[in-house]
Amino acid sequence: MLQFADFQNSYKPNQKDGKIVIFGAGTIGRLTQLALKDHDIQIDYFCDSDKRKQKYKIEDKLIISPEELYKFDNRKTYIFLANQYFTAILPDLFGKGFNNIFKVTDLLENKNLNQLYEKIDMKLLFGKLQSLKLQRNIGFYNEMGRKEDYTRDGKLNLKTIDVQVTEKCSLKCKDCSNLMQYYEKPIDSELNLLLKSIDKIMSCIDSLEEFRVLGGDPFMNKELYKIVNKLVNYEKCKKVVVYTNAKFVPKGENLNCLKNKKVVLDITDYGKHSWAAAQFIEVAKKENIAYTTFRCSTWQDCGRIMPYSNKSENELEHLFSNCCNSDLVSLLHGKLYRCPFSANGVNLKAIPQNKKDEVDLTDDNIGLDELREQINKLCFGKKYLTACSYCNGRDYNSVNIPSAVQSKKPLKLELGLDAKIK
Ligand code: SF4
Ligand code: SF4
Repeated sequence: MLQFADFQNSYKPNQKDGKIVIFGAGTIGRLTQLALKDHDIQIDYFCDSDKRKQKYKIEDKLIISPEELYKFDNRKTYIFLANQYFTAILPDLFGKGFNNIFKVTDLLENKNLNQLYEKIDMKLLFGKLQSLKLQRNIGFYNEMGRKEDYTRDGKLNLKTIDVQVTEKCSLKCKDCSNLMQYYEKPIDSELNLLLKSIDKIMSCIDSLEEFRVLGGDPFMNKELYKIVNKLVNYEKCKKVVVYTNAKFVPKGENLNCLKNKKVVLDITDYGKHSWAAAQFIEVAKKENIAYTTFRCSTWQDCGRIMPYSNKSENELEHLFSNCCNSDLVSLLHGKLYRCPFSANGVNLKAIPQNKKDEVDLTDDNIGLDELREQINKLCFGKKYLTACSYCNGRDYNSVNIPSAVQSKKPLKLELGLDAKIK
């Protein structure tokens, strides 16, 4: 099993003869740089797989590519891993003989992150994060870093579960990465099936950082509040995040359920399409609803079901381990999938079903121990999915396109794809 160390216990400041590199030039990388400065540690380089960032400097420190990093003396290079792509990056680094690799969880733990964030150089970052969003990003990073520990300790602790409460959306984005643009007759998730499925999952796992409640737009489901009110009662789960495109402000019970202390409303503001965004924020402030908001003008081009691609095992593994959606375990119509693309692609019957890529929560003959084992395998044992052969993937190299371009009609599924299970 790959192991890497926490900063406090393992990093010796007298290791000054080598190079110090922060792998990840995003927000966590910048925070890491400032936190290391507090320990009088100056870094030599940033490293980032995102070609758009390479060759730029942050506070005079050049951003190099992984290929340039691999040329360094592996015995004398100290790498702080400051991004969430652990599973993609660690095997490469260890494989090239780099052993001085540190996660930054404990380095950042006792810092006032909001204060630190105010000081970071925002160059090449996409936009300012609100405090709550920053905390959630750091929480996400920490959970990714603990994955190996969980596997070793026999715990089944999950980072997030996407609870898809509807196939309906108030917008019709033609490049929706959750594939809502393909639904001709979208339906809500059946309430009892959904609640029973969640009960089963929560009986099997040890803990969950976040339920992510989404659709489409979850507020299209008039019974959303019944779901949210149930989710907040699980002691094993810390937070319930409800996503919206802010096309409208909900009323009544669907608004009231957001006031629970465990709930965070996450508003993606698509400009002219999210015409109720400002109003929703005002309501959230007035009603004491915790919220974050993000103005989204571009996103990655990954919202299309592609014809079957005959990728090799290596290519599929690479696509999967570099995909930032490959850890978004998703619940849809009584089945648990590894990512929303897989969930909706199979549900739309555009991608062949592979029973090894899903956990069937509708089958009452499966006992809880067996279910736990299946969930464990789905969340921690996959190298790629059948769906990856139909998907462009979602990594740093994905092309950026304007967000939320609307389609008048649902997109036609190109059925008759050369469907294969790999
Ligand atoms: S707002 Fe657009 S991207 Fe979001 S779920 Fe709806 S269709 Fe998809
Ligand atoms: S199908 Fe594979 S590549 Fe596509 S989003 Fe899911 S995990 Fe990523």
